[in-house]
Amino acid sequence: MSNFDYDLFVIGAGSGGVRASRIAASHGARVAVAEDYRVGGTCVIRGCVPKKLLVYGAHFAEDLKDARHFGWDVPDCKFDWDRLRDNVQAEVTRLEGLYGQTLENHKVTVFKTRATIAGPQKVRLADGTELTAERILVATGGWPHVPEFPGSEHAITSNEVFHLDKLPKRVVIAGGGYIANEFAGIFNEFGSKVTIVNRGDTILRGYDEQIRDRLLQISMTKGIDFKFNAPFEKIVKNDDGTLTVHLGGCEPIVADAVLVAAGRVPNTKGVGLEEVGVDLDDHGAIKVDESNQSSVPSIYAVGDVTNRIQLTPVAIREGQAFADSVFGGKPTVVDYQNVPSAVFSHPPIGAVGMTEAEARNKLGSIRVYTSDFRAMKNVLAGRNERALYKMVVNAATDQVVGLHMIGPDAPEILQAAAIAVKAGLTKADFDNTVALHPSMAEELVLLK
Ligand code: NDP
Repeated sequence: MSNFDYDLFVIGAGSGGVRASRIAASHGARVAVAEDYRVGGTCVIRGCVPKKLLVYGAHFAEDLKDARHFGWDVPDCKFDWDRLRDNVQAEVTRLEGLYGQTLENHKVTVFKTRATIAGPQKVRLADGTELTAERILVATGGWPHVPEFPGSEHAITSNEVFHLDKLPKRVVIAGGGYIANEFAGIFNEFGSKVTIVNRGDTILRGYDEQIRDRLLQISMTKGIDFKFNAPFEKIVKNDDGTLTVHLGGCEPIVADAVLVAAGRVPNTKGVGLEEVGVDLDDHGAIKVDESNQSSVPSIYAVGDVTNRIQLTPVAIREGQAFADSVFGGKPTVVDYQNVPSAVFSHPPIGAVGMTEAEARNKLGSIRVYTSDFRAMKNVLAGRNERALYKMVVNAATDQVVGLHMIGPDAPEILQAAAIAVKAGLTKADFDNTVALHPSMAEELVLLK
């Protein structure tokens, strides 16, 4: 038994922190975790989970319309934001309870309060209590970045968007990334007038250009407006409660809500990190080595606070690897190659591996296969919306090095196909697989 109060003190009970706590405890460590908001973190409380439920809710707008083409007499339906919002929040609360229970079952002590670092092996709770731990894991995640401009306090972020009192009739969304495109789809399906305002001329930087262009084209067809190269100048709150958004190079836009989705910054302010000598990078992220160890040997970090890949499953893997390595005698290093990702836009995007441009730069000689098709369901529904699947192949080895898809259920299909890319399978392996007909996924084995 060590002289410390705990073997491990985790700050932050989000995806990475909860996984690390529970696995370390299952390896026999005495673990405590502090969380100043709600157990579950961004993903469960105000990210992936409630967002995906809103995406499902939004998609009914199209399903109900399409159902008429499939023989159903659907009366004109009305959407009730309050009901969906409250049902989603009830589900979030249920999941929060399950996360808390998991920690309890593993005998992890949970402090529902803020904790800061008071020394290399000491933490301080909000009430001043000091506790010692042989190791400290910082898993404080990230926080929405709101650029500074006059009136920015009138904007909301992804923290508040799940709690809106009522559905805004007109929404301006700042940013062209994941959150902007996902919420543009959600609000647009609910009937709001959506305008995406981007400082540059690129949405979803990092995704394959053809796939991005397809989303842009479909989004515009659905009625979403885009303003490019239009930096925010100011937001003015009007007497009637509406907001006027002033932009560089564009006419002002009047809206009922402004959502800022301009990236997320690591949550390292006021945690006491620099005071004990933990090195941060230029973005304020904790610098860690491949074993998640910071510049202070007793302090580790996982998840968004390290700003490696800001995705829940990555944070979970980092938490697991940390606990297995440090407490389970099983040194594990997270593999960041070929991490699949998705954008739950309308329609959604799924991608893994290199884009065409990246592959051309890195490999030189590549082959690219595409399938540009209208899903069978869309044809009968009279929906003129085409899916696009794209495969990037290393010409020298025939290995599939990238898959990029936009279309119905693309993330579901991509997750399975990502196994093949991760395993280094070749175009010939895809060709050798018999198609499953009729499906959209069969396009992947029929690419010519
Ligand atoms: P993203 O990084 O996806 O996009 C940020 C957008 O904001 C970009 O268009 C960027 O433009 C723009 N931007 C950045 N800084 C400024 C600024 N100072 N002024 C104006 N515009 C700016 O961030 P999100 O906020 O959408 O999401 C945060 C993170 O959360 C994502 O990176 C992702 O890791 C995660 N996430 C993942 C989801 C998923 O897996 N489906 C869903 C939602 C979030 P530019 O391109 O010019 O830099």
